[in-house]
Amino acid sequence: METNQTEMPFVPETKEPLTDAQASFIDSINDLSQTIHATAVSKGWWDGDRNNGELIALIHSEASEALEALRHGNGPSDHIPEFSGAEEEMADVIIRVLDMSAARGWRIGEAIIEKMRFNDRRAFRHGGKVF
Ligand SMILES: [Mg+2]
Repeated sequence: METNQTEMPFVPETKEPLTDAQASFIDSINDLSQTIHATAVSKGWWDGDRNNGELIALIHSEASEALEALRHGNGPSDHIPEFSGAEEEMADVIIRVLDMSAARGWRIGEAIIEKMRFNDRRAFRHGGKVF
């Protein structure tokens, strides 16, 4: 196991071009983000201002619901029974992230690709972290 590696930020001199799959992913996820946000707006969830702490807490709550589903055997979802409870709740995590991203005007698709590229360059266990 490699340890004691220092992790330095890596800034490429030229930006790596997107693959077709990455470009398609960005377009798709940004479109989904807008659709998800439009649905949330239509259901009244954005009638007033929403603070970042509340929105992030709600993302946490969906991850906790996934954990609870797994703790209880991960049976069928209550709302989409062709999927497990964990599948539904992890979908909720992503839906809430995309809703918040659209509301804040964040470039979530582009950020995901760039963070994947960054992660790919990171040191083994990110420089020796235990977990
Ligand atoms: Mg949920």
